[in-house]
Order: sequence, then C-alpha cells, then structure tokens
Amino acid sequence: MHPCRGRAWFMRVEKETSWRVRGPVKIGDVISIRVRKYKIVNVEPYYSKTGSRTKLITWLGTCVVCGYQFHFQSGAKFWPTATCPEHRGQAPRGKNGGQVEVLADG
Ligand SMILES: [Zn+2]
Repeated sequence: MHPCRGRAWFMRVEKETSWRVRGPVKIGDVISIRVRKYKIVNVEPYYSKTGSRTKLITWLGTCVVCGYQFHFQSGAKFWPTATCPEHRGQAPRGKNGGQVEVLADG
C-alpha cells in the first residue's frame, strides 16, 4: 500500500490533555469532557509511593471505535481515554474529541 493512503502506522507523538479531579468524588457522578461522558463507578482510597492519601477512581467510558463500554482507572489526574483497551491508540483524531467516522483501510 502506498504510504499516503490508509492509516499511518509510523511512530508519532501526540499532545495529551490531562484533567485534574477536584472536590468530592461520588460514585454515579457523570462528567462530560468535550462530547464524551464518563461515569464514576468506583472510588477507593489509594496511598501513593510517597505515602500521601489520594483516590483511585474507576471510570466507565464508551469506546469511540467499537461503541462498547469499558472501564479504566485513574488517580486525581485524569486522561479522557476514548477507546477500550483493544482499540487503544486507534481513536480517530478530530477537533471535537474523536467523534469522527472511521475510514476503512484501502
Ligand atoms: Zn473498542
């Protein structure tokens, strides 16, 4: 396949945006980042390597590639993951946060 066509599988760097969770965290809360929603399904106390007390939050999100729901965990620093583990790194890039149709290869 000509390198100009289809997906580019070469190494690249991407700007990651992380968010910080502040204030009380409640199971069942839903947050919205851009057009995607994430639901908190579990919160447990977590002690970091330095011994400080923080939170381990379990989120429920929807994969932008296959549409299935998936779980992921974060601390207070939160990356709005857009895909299930199977499609990690395959989220289409777009101005509105990945809600772009997936072009078939070839
Ligand atoms: Zn997926």
